[in-house]
Amino acid sequence: MMNKRKWYPILVIGLALLLVSSVIGCAPSDTKEDIYAAFGEGYTAGFEAGYEKGLRDAPRNEERTQPPIEPPTDTQPTEPPTDTQPIEPPILPGITVIENDTWTLSGKLYLLASEGAGYKIYQPVIDAYDYVGYLGGSIDYIYQGLPIYWHEIRTSNTLILFNATSENLSVLGSWPGQYKEVFPFTVNELSNINLPFALLKRQDDGTIRAIIIANSESKIFEFISIMKNKQVPVNIPWSLLNGEIVASQTGGDWYKEPEVIADANFSVQYPEGYETDASNMLAWANQVVSKLQKSFPDFLDVIGSRIIIVIKDTGDPAYAFADIGRTSIQFVAPSVALKESSYFDTDWYIGNIAHELGHIYLDRIRNLAGGYLRSDVPRWFDEGFCEYLRLLVHGEQRFDEKYSWYAPERNKIIANGFSGISNVYAGGAWVLRFMDSKFGINIIKAIITSKQATFWAAVTEQTNLTPAQFEEQLKEWLKGWAP
Ligand SMILES: [Zn+2]
Repeated sequence: MMNKRKWYPILVIGLALLLVSSVIGCAPSDTKEDIYAAFGEGYTAGFEAGYEKGLRDAPRNEERTQPPIEPPTDTQPTEPPTDTQPIEPPILPGITVIENDTWTLSGKLYLLASEGAGYKIYQPVIDAYDYVGYLGGSIDYIYQGLPIYWHEIRTSNTLILFNATSENLSVLGSWPGQYKEVFPFTVNELSNINLPFALLKRQDDGTIRAIIIANSESKIFEFISIMKNKQVPVNIPWSLLNGEIVASQTGGDWYKEPEVIADANFSVQYPEGYETDASNMLAWANQVVSKLQKSFPDFLDVIGSRIIIVIKDTGDPAYAFADIGRTSIQFVAPSVALKESSYFDTDWYIGNIAHELGHIYLDRIRNLAGGYLRSDVPRWFDEGFCEYLRLLVHGEQRFDEKYSWYAPERNKIIANGFSGISNVYAGGAWVLRFMDSKFGINIIKAIITSKQATFWAAVTEQTNLTPAQFEEQLKEWLKGWAP
């Protein structure tokens, strides 16, 4: 992935792409026109439309910390980065495969994309199709979306695009059992085949289940291009040599299981060579929990199982991720992030751990309470609650210092209330600060444990304010706010 932080226009486009391809990109569409309508042809318009669509259609279980991300101030604009290609293991000369069963891209197609296999691939593919669904941006995101889009996915030919530099293959080991039909592979089988390769399997009903694994987005695209133009083998892993289809070699050792360190509360999975990052994250996570337990003594009990922290050696440090179902939170390794910007310091990670754990806590506590679910709350509350936990671990002074770029959101809410919220993280943080200041943390706790059927019924029950009155008092409070 290009380095978005070194060049501002790239950052903007990159963010839009990232949002389109991951946070929102999950929204499948019935027709190409829908996709264009959703994503637009201009990035900005596409972003806005896609964002709105994403809010309606995105699987709500998913969690992504879209940034607290201000362009870090310490990086100088430089030339737009050339998209560097990771070095791939050499492909040994193979033989051209001639097989009985072959296939070429045709029919309904559903793309399931890992991190690092995004819009660049998606756009040229949809150009050639009447129907293409797309779910992805990360494998976890696919897992969240499978139940929602299952009917369309299972009735399409499916193509899993996996960028091995952006995600660890082990994540595919958690493919949910009831959706195995589109992933008739094992991690062992795949890890035994040298990169890059494609493997197609045909189901009894004729549907193709395919996976492409490579070390770069452009290599994945090369495979797709071949599949658009040629018959490719089914049931035999194949690769490309000078544009020709060849049998893949096996027995390579490109894949490494993640290392693990653990204590009673956390288990940290990390790539080899990142021991220091792992032990830092373990220590920081425990600090976060100790601090949060002062306000929420039941914090770990509610979460209910050991929390998995996944550290990755690549990716955008501005994005963290909580997988509610697996009780796991994911981050780019702090040492990797720090090379990009000093913005991604210890506080950034401590705050982000609090934020991501917040989603899991809120989800669990709503399930335990009965009544409305976390998926029913406005996004500003979901993200705002997590930002509130970030504030609790930092204290107000440090929070305001580090997230000074949240300030302008205050005026937007003063001007337009909830509809003025342009960033659910910053806006949500302001609303939760209002709630804490005006009613106290116990009311916030009572709202998140209320048995009311809707979020607003719980707010009204606890504050005696209608939504409109709540909004008015919020505006008044924000007007009078001073650090
Ligand atoms: Zn979040």
